[in-house]
Amino acid sequence: MRMRRRLSSAITVLTVASSLALTSVAAAPADASVPAARASAAAAAVKVLATPPPRYAAVPPAGISCWGVAKSPVTLACKIGVSLQGRPIIAARQGKASAPRVLVVSGQMHGEEWPGPLVVDRIRRLTISPASTAQIWTVRTMNPDGGARGHRFNARGVDLNGNFPNNWIHQPRGPRYAGTRPLSEPESAAMARFLTWIQPTLIISLHGFSQMVDTTGGGLRAARARAFSQLANIGPAHPVPCGGPCHGNMTDWYTATSRVHGVAFTVEMPHSSLVPRACNVPGHRKRIPVVDCAAYAAYYLAERL
Ligand SMILES: [Zn+2]
Repeated sequence: MRMRRRLSSAITVLTVASSLALTSVAAAPADASVPAARASAAAAAVKVLATPPPRYAAVPPAGISCWGVAKSPVTLACKIGVSLQGRPIIAARQGKASAPRVLVVSGQMHGEEWPGPLVVDRIRRLTISPASTAQIWTVRTMNPDGGARGHRFNARGVDLNGNFPNNWIHQPRGPRYAGTRPLSEPESAAMARFLTWIQPTLIISLHGFSQMVDTTGGGLRAARARAFSQLANIGPAHPVPCGGPCHGNMTDWYTATSRVHGVAFTVEMPHSSLVPRACNVPGHRKRIPVVDCAAYAAYYLAERL
């Protein structure tokens, strides 16, 4: 256990060092005073770093099948699982598999929360430059059965945000029913399988409707959450208490188990998600619907992870 922790720390240090090296070398102006040996070493480093290895295995794990998508900003689509009632759960990728910054936007976990899927629709229309160091994966809904009938739970009455393995506890049937065991539900199992495969740098999990961004956990997770809150003009950004320890939610689970020290936070979209308001994303600083601004904010953040 201890060794695993040390190894992942080493990987993080390497990852951070690599991205810093890439940034500083790319940003440095040509300088005739740099000795030739150092300059060629820097050029070699750029050459290596220009094509970073994919963050995840090219071949998806069992239970996930992928296919290329032509003539669309989305380049790859994957069926990551099937709901209880047989609806496919789809993840779509924009950008290259080799791009080191990996963002996942989860559009919907609770079926009555409608703004998140609209944010995903807008993200999927954004074109990512072939030179981008970011890739964005979107899951429009991980609860298609609940979404089809505008219902919070899956078809078995489970709140999927209590069904992940982190600190899972049994809850009686009712509004907090968390299933019979961790990942007992095909929808949460699909999402866990997918996230374990691609190991995102950041997950933005969209919900509704209390209009805030959750900074629980502090550190990088809270910093990312605050940045999104400011860009998308969705606030306040603060920790959301669970009334005691949190049980079985996806963002805590991923943040605790990511092999690349990726983090995840929750956004509560407002009821007024279709109403224009000021957007703080550079290049989009005007009054636009919240769902549009949230899409631009996610994209902006992906490029800067
Ligand atoms: Zn929700």
